[in-house]
Amino acid sequence: MTLIKSINPYTNEVLAEFQPHTEEELEAKLSAGSMAFSSWKDTSFSKRAELMGNAAKVLKDNREKYAKIISLEMGKVLKESLAEVDKCALACNYYAENAAEFLKEEPIELPDGARAKVIHQPLGIVLAVMPWNFPFWQVFRFAAPTLMAGNVGVLKHASNVPQCALAIEEVLTEAGFPEGAFQSLLIDSKATTNLIEDARIKAVTLTGSEKAGASVASTAGKHIKKSLLELGGSDPFIVLKDANIKKATETAVKARMINCGQSCIAAKRFIVEEDVYEEFLAHFVEHFSQLKQGDPMNEESDFACMARPDLAKELYTQLDKSVKAGAKLIYGGEAPEENSAVFQPAILTDIPTSAPAYSEELFGPVATIFKVKNEEDAIAIANDSEFGLGGSIWSENKEKAEQLASKIESGAVFINAMVASNPHLPFGGIKKSGYGRELSRYGILEFVNSKTVYLG
Ligand code: NDP
Repeated sequence: MTLIKSINPYTNEVLAEFQPHTEEELEAKLSAGSMAFSSWKDTSFSKRAELMGNAAKVLKDNREKYAKIISLEMGKVLKESLAEVDKCALACNYYAENAAEFLKEEPIELPDGARAKVIHQPLGIVLAVMPWNFPFWQVFRFAAPTLMAGNVGVLKHASNVPQCALAIEEVLTEAGFPEGAFQSLLIDSKATTNLIEDARIKAVTLTGSEKAGASVASTAGKHIKKSLLELGGSDPFIVLKDANIKKATETAVKARMINCGQSCIAAKRFIVEEDVYEEFLAHFVEHFSQLKQGDPMNEESDFACMARPDLAKELYTQLDKSVKAGAKLIYGGEAPEENSAVFQPAILTDIPTSAPAYSEELFGPVATIFKVKNEEDAIAIANDSEFGLGGSIWSENKEKAEQLASKIESGAVFINAMVASNPHLPFGGIKKSGYGRELSRYGILEFVNSKTVYLG
């Protein structure tokens, strides 16, 4: 079997190698999951909350250790990894504090005077197929609501972050969750398909590419199992002529470059009204060029490298094809070295509709900037995308911005702010960005049986 390798993408150093689980090992883990569910489903919310609170504490007490694993394994700068670990602790505490209220019985009175209620019950083992870009956060935003609802979880993490996968299991074990309540599986995509087919897996959630999402959801669909997909995005960032340009520009650069541009909710298409276009562009290029690229472990670095050399190569191909199709490269744009994940950021303007940069997701540090005549054109370009995850609108006229927000085809719109995930807010997309919602009360309701009990 092919080894699962942990490789530092900044240096290409092999950090660790793991044997994927054998069929027998996988079977033992599924049995352990089933066994754990049989008692975990009946634990009280206060017991679950106690353990989830412990998990937050384990994360906080070991934040440097876990942040280092994240940065070494997928190349994010250490300060961002520390923030990621802190955010995971927040999500654990949020669900520890709110799950009982979110899942409490809901009485219903019928018009004929009869009574009924809805009770929310766990489903069993839920499988999470997760990506490398926020290797802790993506998992905790699944694990915290799932475990608090009384389900148990198994994780198939991205093959390039096995150490993160094992560290997450360690956090939950140290927090006191029973054996089998949360397990990281070292398996490849093929074994994942077999797993979805197994009767003990009741539902699956995936964050990743469209291709992976379609494959996982079709297997789940074939076996009539619920799936949740959180896929790519090509979020618009609309700057109207009455926006605070200075604030908008600073946020725009941050929203594009966070995690070296590898975020589904990164602002990817900057759509600017022509009256303020030149001003926006000048500020944008200035801020963009000031960011320091360097070793992820260095405190001075603002960004380091992409998570794998093949991802850098793919992004460069999209950039190169876009320039050949007529887009104007106004900053950066050199090809990455062979087998290197270090990518020089780039800015494109005047992008024709035939360019990949117009229609495809650019999952890395390449910004695309569009000039539009007016608000209507801005909305038209924003919606001219297969994706519909998030969007951002900048205007000092809040009422107008709210009206425009309702016209954007996406799962979220942030006004005068960058799109960000937050335990309190539902998170998810429409169109090819996927379906279902994570976080908030909406997230915990995805993997429960909301059962009607008629009280005759
Ligand atoms: P993938 O979508 O291939 O990987 C995401 C997860 O899905 C990984 O755990 C991966 O496992 C798993 N996976 C992939 N194919 C299958 C399958 N057929 N069945 C079961 N599991 C599967 O992303 P990549 O790492 O290849 O990145 C490619 C692109 O995906 C990016 O450039 C970006 O556009 C998008 N992406 C979006 C993310 C988001 O946050 N929405 C996050 C990451 C990527 P394994 O690693 O073993 O292949």
